[in-house]
Amino acid sequence: MNCVRCASDEVNKNGILPSGWQRWRCLGCDKQFSEWGVRWTYTETFKNNVIDEYCHSSKTARQVIADYQISSATLVKRKKQHIDDCDVCA
Ligand SMILES: [Zn+2]
Ligand SMILES: [Zn+2]
Repeated sequence: MNCVRCASDEVNKNGILPSGWQRWRCLGCDKQFSEWGVRWTYTETFKNNVIDEYCHSSKTARQVIADYQISSATLVKRKKQHIDDCDVCA
């Protein structure tokens, strides 16, 4: 696991998120991030899963952001893209 901000591999485990994902803390820059957050950055499948949870369940944006440690800007941007292709949300 590498830090999402400074790419250092000096990271420590820092608890588990409510969603069951490992949470990490960088010893170099003190950034905290989750395994989910890293995958969010890199894979479409994980991004789609988060959007599915946000758009197709009763979770609020605040809950999704807290569970998955993503930025609200990212979530809003993804939701706009999602609405264009989703039959349920359109
Ligand atoms: Zn760092
Ligand atoms: Zn949808």
